[in-house]
Amino acid sequence: MRYLVISDVHANLEALEAALAASGDCGHVLVLGDLVGYGADPNAVVERIRALPAATLIRGNHDKVAAGLEDVDGFNYLARQAIEWTALALTPENRAWVAALPPGPALVDPLVEICHGAPFDEDTYIFDDLDATRALRTSRAPLCLFGHTHVPAAFRLSHNELQMLEPPRGPRFRLALEADSRYLVNCGAVGQPRDGDPQAAFGILDTDARALTITRVPYDVAAAQAKIIAAGLPEVLAQRLAVGR
Ligand code: ZN
Repeated sequence: MRYLVISDVHANLEALEAALAASGDCGHVLVLGDLVGYGADPNAVVERIRALPAATLIRGNHDKVAAGLEDVDGFNYLARQAIEWTALALTPENRAWVAALPPGPALVDPLVEICHGAPFDEDTYIFDDLDATRALRTSRAPLCLFGHTHVPAAFRLSHNELQMLEPPRGPRFRLALEADSRYLVNCGAVGQPRDGDPQAAFGILDTDARALTITRVPYDVAAAQAKIIAAGLPEVLAQRLAVGR
């Protein structure tokens, strides 16, 4: 089985289209949450993802707030500005659809589990060894895919030893999944990368070959930026797309 892994699209239609086009005919799409927030195309992104023929989806923290399931208290100024705009921009139908997105984690197949933040808590950011170890021990599958940080990362737990793998940088990063190890991987953000590389990031998982590839693809950043400015969203949300921060 071949899966396309996308996370943190954040209403960036140009980045989403580039990732879908570059991934080719990938049968099943795993969507790890934060479809909306920050970007200027929440409805178009939701509708594009709704139209995918086969997908497993979970919600992110921005989806929850945009849909009115949680208040904005935990959000910083920028995120708050954007999510309040998003909540008003979403059509009632798309808003209801976003509100119905299930929480993670979700077991996709015997090899893979997906979550937005962590398998033990959908809103936790995994940055350090402690949370990575906890996630690896909590996950019900040997491969746990997460998002939320917008930074590609890969951890391996093998014979009780945690290893942070070489940071997945560059246009292609390939990970061979060994049978005696457990893995925790963030394939990066489609719509708002924060690792200094502005290109959209996504993953391709081949469960038969036990291989996970993280790929970067350029997209029309200027078009996404122009829409953010035209929508009256904070300008810094447009600027950060150009630098991947
Ligand atoms: Zn996010």
